[in-house]
Amino acid sequence: MFDSITGSIKSAVNKIRHKDDAASLKKATTELRKSLLKSDVHHKTTKELVTAVELETKRQGIGQDSFLRALQSELTKILTTEGNQGFVFSPTPPTTILMTGLQGSGKTTTTGKLANYLKLRKKKVLVAACDLQRLAAVEQLKQIAAQIEVDIYFDDNEKDPIKIALAAQEKAKKEHYDVLLIDTAGRLAIDEELMQQLHDVKKAVVPDEIFYVADSLTGHDATKTATTFKEKIGIDGVVLSKYDGDTKGGVAISISHQVGVPLRFIGTGEKMPDLEVFIPDRIVSRLMGAGDIEGLAEKTAAVIDEKKAKAVSKKIKKGEFNFNDFLDQLSMMSKLGSMKSIIGMIPGLSQMTGQLKDMDFENSDEIKRIKALIGSMTPKERENPSLMNPSRKRRIAKGSGLSEMQVNKILKQFKNASKMAKKLSSKGGMKGLQNMMQQMQGQGGPGGLNLPK
Ligand code: GDP
Repeated sequence: MFDSITGSIKSAVNKIRHKDDAASLKKATTELRKSLLKSDVHHKTTKELVTAVELETKRQGIGQDSFLRALQSELTKILTTEGNQGFVFSPTPPTTILMTGLQGSGKTTTTGKLANYLKLRKKKVLVAACDLQRLAAVEQLKQIAAQIEVDIYFDDNEKDPIKIALAAQEKAKKEHYDVLLIDTAGRLAIDEELMQQLHDVKKAVVPDEIFYVADSLTGHDATKTATTFKEKIGIDGVVLSKYDGDTKGGVAISISHQVGVPLRFIGTGEKMPDLEVFIPDRIVSRLMGAGDIEGLAEKTAAVIDEKKAKAVSKKIKKGEFNFNDFLDQLSMMSKLGSMKSIIGMIPGLSQMTGQLKDMDFENSDEIKRIKALIGSMTPKERENPSLMNPSRKRRIAKGSGLSEMQVNKILKQFKNASKMAKKLSSKGGMKGLQNMMQQMQGQGGPGGLNLPK
């Protein structure tokens, strides 16, 4: 996710490696300045950061360790803006959030992503469809809500967004929702009418917070429009959408510093799980190539059903892993988000994300075929893969639209995979896996930076 910035930091650190004189510090800070600007970090933020790192390194005594320490603490300072971090719940539910942004910024999608994020954390969420400006927005939110199985409040006969917002709030209070997310109208550009409407909705529902969804592909304009929204209606957090398409990525470093409002979440894809919480010190750890174990643990804990996971691991050990377990695993994996985003959080492996194509695992042809095959099995066959015989295989081939050869191939792969999993889960295998992981991580990982303790 932060390939370009991590690269900038690495190239600067390399300039000071094994040297501890003023000239190499100058080279390192010059390189840092140049590469941050190239990644599109705002020039004022870049200047402030580089000056502070230089001063702090000198204060501690020039060297690679002190440079890294200074960079780590100054970056954290730049990313930490006064205000809340992540999602903050109001002491008196429902926590009400106004979702604002320009048309096309990803506001409606982000409303769905945030609802999904909270639902996975066991919160009762209601979304309200108050974007009556864009024709398809209400329909889009209905579809998203159905997909993530979150309740929605809408009124196709009402033209006044304030009335809809108030009715949604009434419902959220009466039915004890934890969170109400209100999707508001956008415009192609900022205009007075939009600001007035947002102002009126804000006055009516008195939200706990207002989030502004900024499209990272608009570069420095994202910072400018967020600033205007802050001045005109007041915002409490920025959500940066479409970060997956932003090859430079610097806007994530400077937006909160320039706007004066914390960056709360980052959108990293079109799908519902593609939302990352932005916690400055965790992000700094990732930027420095040291991964984010805490974030990864929090993410997996939210989506993985521990009881199920234990039962499956028992089954694997006994060699009883079946097709239903496989479907369960698949659905858990899709809830975690893209492979790329997960790899980036593992210490030592973060450097690999650049090499990974963004695999759409769940929608790959291979997985689609396997799903079709399982869909044509009887419940008994799914529970017990050993029931397979030629006539059953023929029936499954017909039902799934696959050739018999394809069916045979998939069944064989499944058999081999469960054998392999059984082997790996036995003690020796686990040890082998651990050794492998340790080797991969090495000292700070392949190309990773050794952060001073
Ligand atoms: P709205 O007009 O602000 O409500 O915009 P939408 O929610 O309809 O989003 C506009 C487009 O951006 C849609 O095609 C979304 O799928 C897409 N989009 C939203 N967020 C992201 C993101 O984080 N990454 C990518 N790649 N696309 C996104």
